[in-house]
Amino acid sequence: MKNDIYLTLEKSDLKIQEELDFGEVPYFVDACIETFFDVDKKFGLNLKDSDGVWVNLYAKYNPCDNQFRVDYVVSSSDSNVWRVYQPTQAEINMIQTLIEEACIKQTGHTCKDEFIRRAMEEADEINLVCEKVSETEYQIRNTWDDLVIHTEDETGKLKDHVGHKIEYAKYEAEDGYSFSVECMDCNEVLFAQTDDPQEEVAYAEGVYDYGEYRIVVSPDYKKAIDARDAPEEIYCEVFVKTDVEYKNGLGEFNMMLGYEYDDTTVESIEEGINKLMDESISFYELQRREAEFDRANELLARSVSYITELSGTENLRETLIEKLGMTEAEADNMAQEFEMDIETEQGMTLG
Ligand SMILES: [Zn+2]
Repeated sequence: MKNDIYLTLEKSDLKIQEELDFGEVPYFVDACIETFFDVDKKFGLNLKDSDGVWVNLYAKYNPCDNQFRVDYVVSSSDSNVWRVYQPTQAEINMIQTLIEEACIKQTGHTCKDEFIRRAMEEADEINLVCEKVSETEYQIRNTWDDLVIHTEDETGKLKDHVGHKIEYAKYEAEDGYSFSVECMDCNEVLFAQTDDPQEEVAYAEGVYDYGEYRIVVSPDYKKAIDARDAPEEIYCEVFVKTDVEYKNGLGEFNMMLGYEYDDTTVESIEEGINKLMDESISFYELQRREAEFDRANELLARSVSYITELSGTENLRETLIEKLGMTEAEADNMAQEFEMDIETEQGMTLG
């Protein structure tokens, strides 16, 4: 737990214990979370000197309507005392991320996808309706058990399908099946199972722009900080902005908390990146020019190769001197390179 005045929980303060539990009606994802922070300080308890007493958090999460509740439980060998904990929004986001990660590891699906799959498997009847709940809320509900499986505000798709015929469709997939929820009247998919659940929770890489350079940062410190999982180390790789496929790494550096940046805030980290880039800018300029030069060389080689395809290698040396204006020495070098290339190729075909 960071030593801030609110004692806000960090991701490293918590660990999901064992497997997640997916309850039967009413459906919730249940997580038991081990605590690795000073619970006396955080919850105003006095357990310091008590042996055999421990505190766990229990989270109940409905990923479809975002209901979320955390209790903390003071346990000893003969008692459990439950108390409701009022998490901050940042803590809710962080604990939900933790549960999502555990769910993907356990089931291969996001919480919401796993939740819907289980609910649909257990339902005796699936009769979905799309309905308006308030001025700004729309939802898809199974009328059999009143379970809401999807909610949206007025910016989503649902508002155009209120009262339409909605169906839950299963498709064969590598690991069994995949689902989607579709409007049969409009022949439109309203939402579907997430193809790449890892990506949903990942903050592996991000980018930061410095002048004409783009720096790929790992982890994506902005997302990591949002998820209360601030990095103590950031790996940076430098590219030219125009290198959109990240083919030519110009250089790389590592940043560590306490050395290259003082604080796990976006401002402090970016100040650190700017400083390191400022210090090495002439090096990157040089790398960049070299990369451009390599590119020019490569294009020249391709052009000469094209000439040999059109007119063979016999008069290559003369063509290079007369048509491209090379000096004799340049033409000799180039012609020799291409003859060698051709010999190797022939050698390979013969061999
Ligand atoms: Zn429709």
